[in-house]
This record gives sequence, C-alpha cells and structure tokens, in this order.
Amino acid sequence: MIIRVGHLYPEYLNIYADRGNIAVFSHRAAARGHELAIDQVSVGTPLEPGTHDLLYVGGGQDREQTLIAPDLAGRGSALREAVDGGAALLAVCGGYQLLGRGYRGRNGSWLAGAGLFPHETHAGETRMIGDVLLESTLAEAPGRTIAGFENHAGRTVLDDGAEPLGRVVAGYGNDGRSGHEGCRVGRAVGTYLHGPLLPRNPWLADLLLSWALAHATGSEPEPLAPLDDRLEREAQLVSASRARERGGRPAR
Ligand code: GLN
Repeated sequence: MIIRVGHLYPEYLNIYADRGNIAVFSHRAAARGHELAIDQVSVGTPLEPGTHDLLYVGGGQDREQTLIAPDLAGRGSALREAVDGGAALLAVCGGYQLLGRGYRGRNGSWLAGAGLFPHETHAGETRMIGDVLLESTLAEAPGRTIAGFENHAGRTVLDDGAEPLGRVVAGYGNDGRSGHEGCRVGRAVGTYLHGPLLPRNPWLADLLLSWALAHATGSEPEPLAPLDDRLEREAQLVSASRARERGGRPAR
C-alpha cells in the first residue's frame, strides 16, 4: 500500500531530530510491505484535505514558529477536515503548540494557531527541559509507556474535557502542573516529546500507521504485524530510567 504523507514545514520545524519520526514511519511501513509517498508542505504549498493519510509536523524555536504561524493558522479548516475525514496526524512541540488556538510568546506577542487541538499555550519565564516518562491515556493503549525528551518555554493548557496523550510519571508535560502531556483529537496526536519520539515508542508509531492505513484503504484500523523491537525497547528503558532519575513532577 502507498501511504501518502504530508510533512509540514520540514525546513523550519525540525529540532531534536524530529525528522527522525518520518524515518521510523518509513522503516516500519516498509517492514510490512508498505511505502510512504512524502509531500513536503511548506509556506504557500496547497494542502487538499483527504490527499494525505498521515500528516506530520515537528518542533522549532519561537523564531521559526513566527515565520510559519500565519501560513499554518490559515490551514485550520483544511486540517480539521482532513482529521475529521480520518487522516492520522502527529505534531511535536512547536508544531503541537501552533495546532492549538495559539501561542503567547514571552514578549507578549500572540501567534494565532490552526485551532485543531483544544488548547492554548503561553511561554513562561523558565524552560522545561529533560527526559520525560508518560503512561498513555489513549483508549487504544491504556497505561502503555511513552518516553522522550522535552525542551519548551511554552505551557499548554488543555480545555476542560480535552483528551491528553498521557499521564506524566516524570517530567513537566503540558504545563508542569496538570499532570498531563499532549492532546488527542480523533486520529490526531500532539506531544511535547522529542528525541525523536518514535524510535523509543514503536507502538505509537504503529498505532498512527494503522490509522493512516485505515484512511488509505477506507477500512477500520487493524493492528500491524509485530516486529522485532528489542533495540527500541532497550532505548525506551534507558530513556525511562533517565526520566525516573529526575524523580516525579517538579513543580513550576
Ligand atoms: N518554541 C517553543 C517553546 O519554547 C517550542 C520549542 C520546541 O519545539 N522544542 O516552547
């Protein structure tokens, strides 16, 4: 099967090797006989809802976010239509922030967002940096471990009733207070976790791929054939133990 991928702003939003998540999608799809067809979607590139089975956006510094925010904000309804139509989406950190209603920078400037996720972000005085350990709260994978690395000034506040990606076991997460990390709307998942995220969390890559395949085939999501993930599990264990060493959720 060809899985059509829309990679948003790869030249602007790609810190902490976030591009590596695409490599993991490619590798794990190919291991099951599928192939990714990747479109780079940048400032001014047309994006037709329904064209892509999987959308991806990485993280970036405030400067890069400022450069692409107006273009991304203008794609709000197209992204909403794509996700309502069953496309899968993964958004990391700076991209995750700008898929909410917006981001207020430390200088008070407001960057309007695409409004796909029910949250808003405001930059704090300090950065939230370090290894993170989560327990998934996704219905498809309750309690599964997610491990990664965070570095953000933004504090993201979910609306009441909004669904997070996980519960914070160690680290700051969305805002260092709520005990939640990330957000989920349909088959769209947002998170602060870099690393990149997916090499240490192959089950999450497979879940997103199963949604993308369901979109491509017009059928219900099916679990993918298991792969030999010994190395990935090792990487997750190391990441998780580093996060635990940080000890719980430091108050900010
Ligand atoms: N610039 C944003 C912040 O500092 C996002 C950072 C990132 O993507 N790592 O919060």
